[in-house]
Amino acid sequence: MADMTASTWSNWSGNVRATPQRIARPADEAELGDVIRTAPGPVRIIGSGHSFTPLVASEGTILDLGSFSGLNGHDPALMTATIGAGTPLGQLTQMLHAAGQGLPNMGDIDRQTIGGALGTATHGSGLGLGAYHTQLLKVRLADGRGQIREYDIEKQPEMLQAVGVNLGAFGAMTEVTFQNMPSYRLRRRRRALPLEEVLQNFDSLLRSHRSAEFFIIPFSSHALHLSYDIAEGPVSTHPPEQDEDGLKTLKMLRSTLKRLPWLRRKLIGSALSRVKPEDFVDVWFGAYVSERRTRFNEMEYHLPFEAGAGALKEIITLMERDFPEVYFPIEIRSVMADETWLSPFYRRATCSIAVHHDAAEDPAAFFRAVELIFRKHEGRPHWGKMHSLTARDFATLYPRFKDAMEVRRDLDPDNRFISPYLAKILDV
Ligand SMILES: Cc1cc2nc3c(=O)[nH]c(=O)nc-3n(C[C@H](O)[C@H](O)[C@H](O)COP(=O)(O)OP(=O)(O)OC[C@H]3O[C@@H](n4cnc5c(N)ncnc54)[C@H](O)[C@@H]3O)c2cc1C
Repeated sequence: MADMTASTWSNWSGNVRATPQRIARPADEAELGDVIRTAPGPVRIIGSGHSFTPLVASEGTILDLGSFSGLNGHDPALMTATIGAGTPLGQLTQMLHAAGQGLPNMGDIDRQTIGGALGTATHGSGLGLGAYHTQLLKVRLADGRGQIREYDIEKQPEMLQAVGVNLGAFGAMTEVTFQNMPSYRLRRRRRALPLEEVLQNFDSLLRSHRSAEFFIIPFSSHALHLSYDIAEGPVSTHPPEQDEDGLKTLKMLRSTLKRLPWLRRKLIGSALSRVKPEDFVDVWFGAYVSERRTRFNEMEYHLPFEAGAGALKEIITLMERDFPEVYFPIEIRSVMADETWLSPFYRRATCSIAVHHDAAEDPAAFFRAVELIFRKHEGRPHWGKMHSLTARDFATLYPRFKDAMEVRRDLDPDNRFISPYLAKILDV
């Protein structure tokens, strides 16, 4: 077992830090069981540390499941794949493609692990497409006493619904089986649209493609609309990524024109109205995934789909009135309803709205103000992104919260996976 004497650990954006006594990397399930039983608690499992909430932080043990990685098997007829839960998505995409399979959808980046993506209900966009956990057919995990348990959607459908989104609080997942589809190509189109047009045609712009999303550019009265549709044609040239350069320009204009919003709007708006539409075909993962180098903090809430356009208007008004320092785009996506108990999409077709803030600047006032709007519209926060809710709030937002907590107590009766943060958001 690789066992590092830990110093300070921090997440991707740097807003969560911890000084665990131990960072353990067990080589197999026997060693994993030993760590769970004997290592200093709380035992918190890490994927790749891309969550903004302190889900991974522990002053006891951080458990790295990097050894449980790789494609352990696949069925070409059924399009299923059995995968180590510590596999980073960026490696999984290559392995699945080589096996003739594809994930039906992806989020913005491929740095997360499968375990981490299931931990927080990570999602992409598309009203007919579910988050990663909707692909789950089987899960294998070590419970709070280090015992291996296996659940299969055919034999224990309720257990899959209970542990499909789990915050690393029900056990340490070692292996999962996913329902995939044949590998495919996607046509990705991007164009700039006046904000007015986006707000007027909000539903149809999100619904009329297999998958679509908007990035509202602050102080510009414009948005970028991205759409993704299955393509039969050959792969074409992938234009260079411009998001990082665009962010630098937005930040520079924010800093120089913070007190001249009319000039900021004129400059960004006219630059955007001249942006050439982008249109290319790529293998599925090449079209979905972006590189995110500029560090930020993020809050994302999942709202009933019908509430999306109204909430977005309120957020834009708030931001342009009170928060001239914001320069990161607002991201709007949709997600299909599902049956997983702790899924923010539980029985609800969703419009997801995400706000971002420079990681070097304090997001608290902006996020607090936006959160009031999200809450007014009965939003459920992304488990991995900043929010201020506690177990009491979740008990009202999630109809099966109590049932999920009962299953959790059964799997981890000694609360080995419960840190002070987990105790705040769960009923333990
Ligand atoms: C730049 C960036 C882009 C992002 N884009 C998106 C996006 O497009 N869509 C979206 O929904 N989210 C997005 N996120 C959020 C991110 O997907 C989630 O926070 C995700 O959980 C991070 O995965 P991770 O592997 O880093 O997990 P971590 O953050 O390390 O862990 C997340 C949770 O999973 C648990 N966990 C990890 N592995 C296991 C395991 N094997 N068994 C049990 N529990 C486990 C942890 O204990 C923790 O509770 C983004 C984040 C960043 C920083």
